[in-house]
Amino acid sequence: MKESNNIEEIKDKKKEEIKFLADIMLGKLVKWLRILGFNTTYPSFDDDLSLILTARQEGRILLTRDTNLIKRRNVCDFLFIKGDHWEEQLLGIIKGLKLKINFDSKIFSRCSLCNTLTKNVAKKEVKNYVPPYVFLTQNKFVYCPSCKKYYWRGTHWQRMTQIIQNLKLFSA
Ligand SMILES: [Zn+2]
Repeated sequence: MKESNNIEEIKDKKKEEIKFLADIMLGKLVKWLRILGFNTTYPSFDDDLSLILTARQEGRILLTRDTNLIKRRNVCDFLFIKGDHWEEQLLGIIKGLKLKINFDSKIFSRCSLCNTLTKNVAKKEVKNYVPPYVFLTQNKFVYCPSCKKYYWRGTHWQRMTQIIQNLKLFSA
């Protein structure tokens, strides 16, 4: 009999890029996976079959809180998410899959709203698009071509990095 999740098999996939598909109950977790640079989609549909088929088709690991869904055996790669809070959920994924958090290149490499890879943009290009104070005090900017939104390493970014550092301590 198989265990209630299939972490061992998922670990083999680590040579390739790990991609996730999260069910509708995991919005906050999705945001943080994207901030850490993990390719994570978050469909608006939540019927089991569509989730399973999409995960299989796109080679994604289905993250789910739905115990009924995982009772269907061998449906796709999945990770059953325990815990009600995103910190707990994220730690579960990081530990369970032994994921490395890449502070140099991965963090903020994706838009937390839409999952698109962000692009680095030169400071001189953002002058008309960000508040004057931000332009004066910040030097690194990234851009989401989908949302047409600029992000920068401001206090929000620092706060998020701190949260991630704390997570790292817990996961060590
Ligand atoms: Zn975006």
